[in-house]
Amino acid sequence: MARVALVTGGTRGIGEAISVALKDAGYKVAANYGGNDKAAQEFTARTGIPAYKFDVSDYDAVTAGIGKIQDEVGPVDILINNAGITRDGVLAKMTFEKWNKVLQTNLTSCFNTCHAVVGGMRDRGFGRIVNIGSLNGQAGQYGQVNYAAAKSGIHGFTKALALELASKHVTVNAVAPGYVETEMVMAVPQPVLEKIIKQIPMGRLGKPQDIARTVLFLVADDADFITGSTLSINGGHHMY
Ligand code: NDP
Repeated sequence: MARVALVTGGTRGIGEAISVALKDAGYKVAANYGGNDKAAQEFTARTGIPAYKFDVSDYDAVTAGIGKIQDEVGPVDILINNAGITRDGVLAKMTFEKWNKVLQTNLTSCFNTCHAVVGGMRDRGFGRIVNIGSLNGQAGQYGQVNYAAAKSGIHGFTKALALELASKHVTVNAVAPGYVETEMVMAVPQPVLEKIIKQIPMGRLGKPQDIARTVLFLVADDADFITGSTLSINGGHHMY
């Protein structure tokens, strides 16, 4: 029986590449998204992967959404916490709303989804959780106290949960992408983007597929001795 994988924010950008790579590798995939119905419908038409709309920052919505996925697709063996947003601004000008929205969407979401699936993973004696962190959570970034705090929180969350689940053969790892060609990054003004690319030793932005291949590696059945780690995928931009 094919293992079931859930990718949050799995209908666009990096998440789409992860969903497709998992499907191509033979997993049964469910993709979650937050509000962009058109993108989700086009994604499903393109890939044949079902899309489930719920807000990952809302505990009750996540519980209900994952319940539906487990009924319709099967018990979740692999969880990729990929959904994320930015709401940039220097701290002095950042509203509490922007702070809180990013913390809830990028970090509290990991609690919400993991809470819904770890019981089943423990009972079945198998699970793979991969949380998408960020270079900017490792290194910090001007104008991103909210995003850097949430992503750096993901790295701590990953290690703590890895310790809790190791004896049950459930691994928990993080991937920390550098700058990747998605709508999130393409929204950055061109002169700023050019400056960023100059700082990347490989001389290019990452591609969503660069992240997807790393996720595939971490979720494999025989990746069972890798847990609590963070893999940095950034073209040499920042070395940890
Ligand atoms: P995109 O903006 O391209 O896609 C984001 C996805 O997350 C969409 O599917 C979106 O759904 C979903 N999403 C957003 N908010 C919610 C929510 N509240 N509930 C459910 N789903 C939600 O992002 P990227 O592909 O660029 O980024 C993916 C992840 O990688 C993020 O966690 C990001 O922080 C991280 N990352 C990205 C980098 C980059 O350079 N792009 C670098 C480092 C990390 P919808 O379509 O409905 O809006």
